[in-house]
Amino acid sequence: AMFRPTFRRFASSVAPAASELAYTQRVSQAQSTVNGFVGAIGRTPLIRLNKLSDETGCEILGKAEFMNPGGSVKDRAALYVVRDAEERSLLRPGGTVIEGTAGNTGIGLAHVCRAKGYNCIIYMPNTQSQGKIDLLRLLGATVYPVPAVAFDNPENYNHQARRHAEQLAEQTGNAVWTNQFDNTANRRAHIETTGPEIWAQTAGAIDGFTCSTGTGGTLAGITRYLKDASDGRVKSFLADPPGSVLYSYIKSGGKLTERSGSSITEGIGQGRVTDNLAPEISLVDDALQISDEKSIAMVYRLLDEEGLYVGASTALNVVAAYEMAQILGPGKTVVTVLCDGAYRYAERLFSKGWLEGKGLLGSIPERLHRYIAL
Ligand code: PMP
Repeated sequence: AMFRPTFRRFASSVAPAASELAYTQRVSQAQSTVNGFVGAIGRTPLIRLNKLSDETGCEILGKAEFMNPGGSVKDRAALYVVRDAEERSLLRPGGTVIEGTAGNTGIGLAHVCRAKGYNCIIYMPNTQSQGKIDLLRLLGATVYPVPAVAFDNPENYNHQARRHAEQLAEQTGNAVWTNQFDNTANRRAHIETTGPEIWAQTAGAIDGFTCSTGTGGTLAGITRYLKDASDGRVKSFLADPPGSVLYSYIKSGGKLTERSGSSITEGIGQGRVTDNLAPEISLVDDALQISDEKSIAMVYRLLDEEGLYVGASTALNVVAAYEMAQILGPGKTVVTVLCDGAYRYAERLFSKGWLEGKGLLGSIPERLHRYIAL
């Protein structure tokens, strides 16, 4: 009853809550056949987070990016950076895609490369779990774990990926470093797909958007689209973990500080304004810093109350959406991004020993301890 779909715009593409529809109606709305793996990327549902919405008197909606075929929001960026290389004639059949990534971008690229017939080479810091390395190799990628050193060190995984690609491109004329941090095809994926989907799914009845950043493609792209579509009416907040410099950058009106501190939220937090963020960061209205204590508690809350099994960056985004809803006030609609599932992090997020080691066991209410199963 709380869900109030409006049909001002895009009437035919806006679905009322599934519970209001007869089963046959839902079946008739099922997606038609798509063209291969890449055709299955995007058009993810917008999930109403029921308990959190009822509690705040707002509509808190999560864009279910964990439902992409490669399992994360990065499938969209992976497809766009590969397409961009094809369009610039840097990549032809049989060519090689090289990227520096510790996580979801590599998985998205490995899938897209198999689907399109390219080789995939991934450089990653050797601090990453064996599980990630194994998965990338299972997906056919060649993986080079290299020493985990800072970005200004030439041996950093990003620079190693760039040099390898430059060498191979010189030899074969058919290799590319996709450069997810500064290649703005990443942001374009969200301007052209995620942003318009959110606008259509809410029929333009959206008041706020918030999400965290790794490369910044998601925040910058969706913010740009929603600001344009709403003539600046939709507010956009950065959601930042401890150890990232962007929160203080926005709060101070553009002062960059040294990176310090850390967070359990893998895949997000940033030490600089990337090229994906730079043109849009002035559109971001405000920033929220979300502690690991709040993020881990929300991982468990989403599981217990909403049945959602999601990673820590998603939980951080949802905490930020909750806080943004409280700031905007009752009756407003706030959208955030559900980046990926908890599968790749389960041995950490649901392990008693790991939680104790991070000092986070006390952040999880006693009644939710039954989920600490590992
Ligand atoms: N959450 C997770 C789990 C991720 O892997 C990433 C990508 N690094 C993000 C959020 C952030 O996305 P973006 O790179 O578009 O800022």
